[in-house]
Order: sequence, then C-alpha cells, then structure tokens
Amino acid sequence: MTQLPIRKDLIGRSPYGAPQIDVPIRLNTNENPFGPSPELVAELAKVVSDLGSELNRYPDRDATELRADLATYLNSESQVNLTAKNIWPANGSNEVMQQLLQLFGGPEKSLVTFDPTYSMYEDYCRNTFTKYLSVSRNKDFTINQKVIDSALALNPDIIVLTSPNNPTGTVIEFSDIDYLLRNFAGVLIVDEAYAEFRPVDSPSALSKLDSNPGLIVARTMSKAFSFAGARIGYVAASPEVVEAIQLVRLPYHLSTVTQALARAALRFSDQLQSQVNLLRQERDDLAIWFENVGFDVAPSGANFLLFGTFADRNLVWEQLVEQGVLIRQTGPDGWLRVSIGTPEENLAFKTALLHVTNRTNGK
Ligand SMILES: *Cc1c(COP(=O)(O)O)cnc(C)c1O
Repeated sequence: MTQLPIRKDLIGRSPYGAPQIDVPIRLNTNENPFGPSPELVAELAKVVSDLGSELNRYPDRDATELRADLATYLNSESQVNLTAKNIWPANGSNEVMQQLLQLFGGPEKSLVTFDPTYSMYEDYCRNTFTKYLSVSRNKDFTINQKVIDSALALNPDIIVLTSPNNPTGTVIEFSDIDYLLRNFAGVLIVDEAYAEFRPVDSPSALSKLDSNPGLIVARTMSKAFSFAGARIGYVAASPEVVEAIQLVRLPYHLSTVTQALARAALRFSDQLQSQVNLLRQERDDLAIWFENVGFDVAPSGANFLLFGTFADRNLVWEQLVEQGVLIRQTGPDGWLRVSIGTPEENLAFKTALLHVTNRTNGK
C-alpha cells in the first residue's frame, strides 16, 4: 500500500515532538531538574514490590484513594476545600485535557486559546473534531479585558486559559479571571501546569471553583513534582464535571502502579517546597541576567523563561546544541525558551549563550 488509509485530516501532519537529543544539559521540556530524592526512590520501590502480587487484577477504576490524596494536596497548596469528588486524574494532564475535549468538544463546538500558548490544545481539538480558534495576546504576552472581549466575540463553547502560560510564563491577573467568569457561560479550563512556581502573591483559579460550576482547573505532577516520567495529571472541578468525564474515560485508564507511585510522591510533597523555591530564585536571577546582558525576557511565573530576540533563532539553537545545551525553539518568531535547571546547568547555559552570541556578562 503506498498510502495508509488514515483519516483525511491526519494526512501529512507530524506528531507532537520536542526533540529528545542526548546532550549533557537538557533545558527544553520544563522538567524539574532535580530527580526524586533517595528516600522517595526507596519508597517507590517498596510500593511497587508491595503491589506486584495484585497486578493480575484491574486497577481501582475510580482511583478513589489517589483522588482523595490529590484533594488533600491542593487544599494545603492553595488553601481550598476540595474532596475526592472534585478531582479526576489521568496519564498526564494531556490525557485529562483530551478527555475534557471528548466530553465538551466535538463537531459544531469550538475552543479559543490566547496565542502564543501551548501547542497541544490544537491537537486535542483536532483529535476530537473541535474547531480550534485563538486570539492574540498583547505584545507583552499579557491578557486584558480587551483581549478577553475578542475571545468572547468568537462565541466559543470552551475557553482555555493557561496560567502561568507556556511558552511565555505570563501569569493571569485575578481581575481578568473574574471578568471572564462573569462574562462567559461556557466551559472555562484554566491550565495550571506550572502553578507551584507562580509568585507567592498570585492565587490559583482553584479558589474560584466553588462559585463557578463551569470552571475546570488542570494540574500536573510532571513539572514541580519531578514526576514527568510517571505520567500523572489531574483536574479539579465540580463533582458534576468529574462524574461526566466517566462517560469518555477508558475503563481502567490509570494503572495500579501509576496510582500507587503518585500517592507515594504526594507523601513527599513537603520536600518539594525547598526545590520549588530554589528554582523560582534561579528563574528570577536568570531573568535579571538576561536583561543585564541585553536580551529581552518575558516576565515568568513558571520554571522557564522566554528570551530573545534573534534574527535567526534556529542558528542560536543549533549552536547551543553544539555546546551541549538543549533548549526549545517555540513561541513567536525570534524567541527561544529555556527551562530552569540546577544552578550548575543554568551557569553552563549562560556561558554557552554568551559564547554563541558573542556577548559578555554585563553588556
Ligand atoms: C507541561 C505541560 C502540561 C503537562 O502535561 P503532562 O501531560 O501532565 O505531562 C500541561 N499543560 C501545559 C501548558 C504544559 O506546559
């Protein structure tokens, strides 16, 4: 067969893919650079060994214990009052997002995002035959009422707001979330994949769940939790939304092992805080460094920075790879994104960037 008989709209498309290149310094996918602690690693091994003899059985389809633990975590992280009924986990927030689109999207439905933003939203729409629309953020990547009005004017069924936004790091103002909630009767998904890195004085949209049944907040253990390899993401929403998701989830979608590993990691969530604080500090230091050296940098509440601008960003990216540093070509033309690494990795990145751009520290 010369041409596989695949769906027409998939012909010629390429799969999502950040390059996975084996270089010493990998700062391209916003992972936490610190692996799980030795204590947690020991706990993970014990957990898997304890449940090994039960793997002939299907997992708890409702993931009840994990949902309760995630609610407890969010309650302390964001001072809210959620229960297991408010939480739904899946294999990464990517999977929960796709479930949400299977449920709320579909032919004749549309979704709006604020561009530039995470490229996967378009893929979820494509996979579920949902119409994908976007409106532009302001030049400085912020959103205000005018930008929101232009999104509302498209009359979407779903709005996805990412805060802190990927790839820009921009944090939404609370007054703007309120404005959206007051003026939009559809499904508002706030993607808070980077919430743990947000500035201390900016609250989470979780605090708005009680009074807004159409609001859904997506979180993940892939970023702050150093757990990207385990694949656990989740949403917090009204119990009605969580119940409705059951219509589209695959049976037993979350393995017994995944559920147990996630619960173990949550038991160590206190250990995270010092790492998160360090990464925040490194981010703020690196942002100041970019400015001092003469680059533009977008204010970020996440564990990455968008910086630029370059006449040929591909060239800078390639030369960094040659220096053993992998970052990401994403966002508007001319900009590059770097994930915050360990202090040693950040230093190596800065040295390599100065080298390939012929700049020196302090202008
Ligand atoms: C990394 C990221 C996610 C997380 O995806 P997982 O499937 O949970 O690993 C979700 N949303 C955004 C905007 C991200 O950058």
